[in-house]
Amino acid sequence: MLIDCHAHLDHTRYYTDLDKVIERCRENKVLVITCGVNKDSNRKVLEISKKYNDVVKAALGMYPFDAVNIQTDEEYLGRKPIKFNVDEELEFIKKNKGKINAISEVGLDNSIENSKIEDQKKVFMKIIELSEKINKPLVVHSRKAEQLCVELLESCKHNNIVMHFFSGSMKLVKRIEDNGWSFSIPCNIDRLQHFQLVCEKVNINQLLTETDSPYAPPLGENRNEPIFVKKTVEKISEIKKLDKDEVEKNIFMNFQKIFLKN
Ligand SMILES: [Zn+2]
Repeated sequence: MLIDCHAHLDHTRYYTDLDKVIERCRENKVLVITCGVNKDSNRKVLEISKKYNDVVKAALGMYPFDAVNIQTDEEYLGRKPIKFNVDEELEFIKKNKGKINAISEVGLDNSIENSKIEDQKKVFMKIIELSEKINKPLVVHSRKAEQLCVELLESCKHNNIVMHFFSGSMKLVKRIEDNGWSFSIPCNIDRLQHFQLVCEKVNINQLLTETDSPYAPPLGENRNEPIFVKKTVEKISEIKKLDKDEVEKNIFMNFQKIFLKN
């Protein structure tokens, strides 16, 4: 079984052909975790994971910008600047803990001016606390706030932490590895040296694969989808000089250890 531990299947870019995308996951034996980014998106995630429960698992969360009501200009139905109450949404996640395998997408993003980073930090601390309480892994977004994310996460009482699309320094990569956390490697490892280096340095037992679909497709594709984790597995096997099947098996074991605990 191949793993895509971070995708957004509720995105508008799948509205017309999600059935086909899922069919391709079945044919290629890809297991997907689809993640929520806000109130609307979390509800859609639960619907999608229920409808396609043989290959899709759910993660609920709140994207760092959505959590502090920063409007993103992306055309994404679930991303309208709808105000929602963070505490109520945390309560919703708690109530649905039996239906989810992780808390995601959550974290910090300091890539824009006026990112309200202090507010983001407060929300993120509450999320870390919730993950301890309901014993669910965290899949973390850390764009331009990598160090801060690591520092906050080091207060977390559990080790089930996956750094998604991690673009911080190799020094931080080492610190994350020493903390026993994992990295999920995106498809653009095909052209980004940074992710190739992460794969080279980090123990195979701490690597996972993701797509962040529909974003960040591999070269030559215009929309990403879960089956493209295949290409990432190929790349990892090339870098680690391991057989493809062995890499696939290893990543599946890592996935089980982190996401299928309860
Ligand atoms: Zn994402």
